[in-house]
Amino acid sequence: MSRSAHPAGPRHADVLPEGHYQAPPSDLNRLDPRVWSRTVTRNDDGAAEVGGLDVRALAEEFGTPAYFLDEADFRARCRAWRSAFGQDADVFYAGKAFLSRAVVRWLTEEGLNLDVCSGTELAVALDAGMPAERIALHGNNKSTAEIERAVTAGVGRIVLDSYQEIVRVAAVAQEHGVRQRVQIRVTVGVEAHTHEFIATAHEDQKFGLALADGMAAEAVRRVLRLDSLELVGIHSHIGSQIFDMAGFEVAARRVVSLLADVRDEHGVELPEIDLGGGLGIAYTSEDDPREPQDIAKALNEIVTRECEAADLRVPRLSVEPGRAIVGPTAFTLYEVGTVKPLEGLRTYVSVDGGMSDNIRTALYDAEYTVALVSRTSDAPPMLSRVVGKHCESGDIVVKDAFLPSDLAPGDLVAVPATGAYCRAMASNYNHALRPPVVAVADGDARVIVRRETEDDLLRLDVG
Ligand SMILES: *Cc1c(COP(=O)(O)O)cnc(C)c1O
Repeated sequence: MSRSAHPAGPRHADVLPEGHYQAPPSDLNRLDPRVWSRTVTRNDDGAAEVGGLDVRALAEEFGTPAYFLDEADFRARCRAWRSAFGQDADVFYAGKAFLSRAVVRWLTEEGLNLDVCSGTELAVALDAGMPAERIALHGNNKSTAEIERAVTAGVGRIVLDSYQEIVRVAAVAQEHGVRQRVQIRVTVGVEAHTHEFIATAHEDQKFGLALADGMAAEAVRRVLRLDSLELVGIHSHIGSQIFDMAGFEVAARRVVSLLADVRDEHGVELPEIDLGGGLGIAYTSEDDPREPQDIAKALNEIVTRECEAADLRVPRLSVEPGRAIVGPTAFTLYEVGTVKPLEGLRTYVSVDGGMSDNIRTALYDAEYTVALVSRTSDAPPMLSRVVGKHCESGDIVVKDAFLPSDLAPGDLVAVPATGAYCRAMASNYNHALRPPVVAVADGDARVIVRRETEDDLLRLDVG
C-alpha cells in the first residue's frame, strides 16, 4: 500500500473535528484577501464592493441568493497558471468546477485548454468557441453518443478509463476514419486528501486503471494494438483540495516508471503526462495554498528528476486545475431572514439559499467562512451557524463562523470561495430556483447564467 501522501491532517482538509471553531477574528469587518476575490474591498460606507460595485446595489439589481464572479480575478488566475507552466506545458481548466459560455470564452482568450466530462459539457465548450483540439474528454462511463460527439468534433484527447472504453473509442474512431489521440488514466495508489468521498486515486475507486496490478500496462498493450488510437500519454489525478506536493511526487514517480516500462516493452516513449488537478484553495484564513509558480516549479522538478533517473525524454506536462482557478473568484450573496440565538450553543442565521446553492458543506463537511457585507459593525462577535431555508436539518452553509451580534434580518452576508462546485452542483431541492451567476468587472455587472424561474420548473414538469 502507498505511504500516506498527506500527513498534514484535518487542518489542511475540508474536514474539521466535530465542534471545532477558531477563536473570533480580531476584526470581524476585515475581508481577508486570501479568501475573497481580488477586487473585493469595503467602501467608505462600510459595504463590500466587487469590481467597483457595491453589494447592496448588486443585491438590488440581481436579487439574492446570487453568485458574483470576479472576472478580473478569474482571468488573472488563468494567466498566472499559464505563465507559471510556460510553453512546454498545457493547463486544462477542469470545466466540472464551473462551466458556462462566458467562462469558456475567457479560457479561450487566456490560452487555457479545457477538460469536459460529459457530452453536454462538451456542447457548451464547442458552442462558446473553444477549439476542439484544446478540449479533453474525461469520464468513467462515456456513452457511445458522447464518444461519437467528441471524435467527430475533433477533440484533442480522450482520456480512457476502462478496457471496454478502449474498444468503444477505437470503434467510433475507425468508423469515422479518425486516428483519435488518447491518454490512459491510471491510478497510482495515492490518496492525496483526508476525505474519503472526494479522494480519487487510491485503487478502491471507480476511476482509472491500476498501475499496481498491471491493468495500466495491459491497457497500454491494448491501445497500442489499435490503429485508430494514438496513445499520447498517461494521466493521473490524485485527489482534491491538496496543499502538499508529496502526493504528486509519488504519482509522478509511478507514472514515469510506467513510461519506462512502456519504452522497455514496446520501444515507444510516450510524449505526454498529465498529473491532474486537485490543487487546494483558501476557504478560510486557516488555509495557505501555494501559488501556481510554486506548483509548476515543484511539478517540473519532480518530473524532470524522475525522467532523468529513468533515462527518458521529459514528456510534455499538463495539469488540470479547476477549483484553484475558479474557486476563489466568486462569493455567494445572501439576505438574512431570521436570527435565532440558542442559549449556550450558537446563533442560527437563516439565509435565503442553502444546500441547493452550496451542497459542499453537507456533502463533504466543507469549511467556509462568512461576513456581514452590507455594512460594518462594532458589535461583539457571536458564534454563528449559517443555515439555508430547506426542509432538512443538514442544510448548513457555514458550520461555525463569527458574525457581529447586531446582525438582523435584511442584512446581506456573503460566503467567499464559492466559485467551484457550488453553482455546478446546485439543485432544485424544495423546488429552489437555482441562483444566477453574475460576472463583475470594472464597474460592470453582467448575468452570465440567469436565475431559474418558476416557468423553467413548470416547463420541465409536463403534468
Ligand atoms: C475533478 C478533476 C479535476 C479538477 O479538480 P480540482 O480539485 O477542481 O482542481 C481535474 N482532473 C480530473 C481528472 C478531475 O476529475
